[in-house]
Amino acid sequence: MKVLVINCGSSSLKYQLIDMENESVLAKGLCERIGIEGSALTHKPTGKDKYVVETAMPDHSVAVKLVLDALMDSEHGVIENADEITAIGHRVLHAGTVYSDATLVTEDVKKVVRDCFDLGPLHNPANLIGIEACEEAMPGKPNVAVFDTAFGMNMPQKAAMYGIPYEYYEKYSIRRYGFHGTSHMFVSGETCKMLGKDDAKVIVCHLGNGASISASIGGKCVDTSMGLTPLEGLIMGTRSGDVDPAVVQFICNHENISVDEMLTILNKKSGLLGMTGISSDFRDVRKASEEGNERAALALDAYRYRVAKYIGSYVAALNGVDAITFTAGVGENSWEMRSEICEYLGYLGVEVDEEKNKAAIGEQAVISTPDSKVKIIVLPTNEELAIARETVKLV
Ligand code: ADP
Repeated sequence: MKVLVINCGSSSLKYQLIDMENESVLAKGLCERIGIEGSALTHKPTGKDKYVVETAMPDHSVAVKLVLDALMDSEHGVIENADEITAIGHRVLHAGTVYSDATLVTEDVKKVVRDCFDLGPLHNPANLIGIEACEEAMPGKPNVAVFDTAFGMNMPQKAAMYGIPYEYYEKYSIRRYGFHGTSHMFVSGETCKMLGKDDAKVIVCHLGNGASISASIGGKCVDTSMGLTPLEGLIMGTRSGDVDPAVVQFICNHENISVDEMLTILNKKSGLLGMTGISSDFRDVRKASEEGNERAALALDAYRYRVAKYIGSYVAALNGVDAITFTAGVGENSWEMRSEICEYLGYLGVEVDEEKNKAAIGEQAVISTPDSKVKIIVLPTNEELAIARETVKLV
């Protein structure tokens, strides 16, 4: 069975065609600048050369057709016709309180995605366009929506509720949802498999450009750091993570800016970028810090301290922990950051084998010593595979 995984952004479309017999990627690629001048498709069939098509893509429907053409291309393609694709799995950001699992797309599901436009204003409209473009290009094929909020929807109410008047939950579904859910689901599930323990208590640190952390038991969410939107929680590349909401009022009043403008600052100009004034990219900040930049050093200090604090609170939430797993760009690659975070965890009996830690760059590994009371793991996330697996379950 071959599953096409689609991840639509407002002007982009990422795809992977996965053969689910052996979970191998047949081809992957990216359409960029959809609806903007200079659009291009970059197609990478496994084992063959990259293939770039520079052509106008006025909308996502055109992009989906170009993806199918590339997949079926006589020279660069990997399938002969679209019938070889059994189903399409879509990453969808927000399902509000309606879905806590992936679901087959129906008109009702599309209505929910549409109803959640204000909860996911950048992603949900693009996700819906992607679904409709696939329906048009491949009529009759099952489409599955895999929601980023699904994992967090399973957290208990006590973890989901904000301490604000209950009427806002009733009226507007204001609660904590959590994001990166597909990644947390995949990585926590794979960690349980590595431990050979179905009910393992796992903390996953997804440290990428966006960053979040989750606590789960047997792959079921107990808590996760992002909230109503992906702004809550850890310090990220450009997002602030947790701040006192009174900061918003204070800065809006003093700088004479609107709440919307302030939210843009918190989402796009804060985090490592805002704290350092240098870059949102972790490697740039690390380099600046090594060159003696004090703000860069402070930002990294605050970054790792925030992660360590969350780990502590999640150990309390779980009443213990079997494994702490690092994933995403920083988590998979920065042995320094893993080491520095684990320095805070001596009280848990965590011991890192620094040789193993340094060797584990972008690959699955246990980096703790055999005596460590908690297993420390590096595990590359694979949201596309997780989406494909969910799709297979439903078709
Ligand atoms: P996203 O998918 O959220 O855009 P990624 O998971 O790709 O982000 O992570 C991007 C982050 O990972 C960047 O801050 C980047 O600097 C960091 N990163 C990538 N490779 C490395 C590396 N080898 N060492 C340290 N950090 C890295």
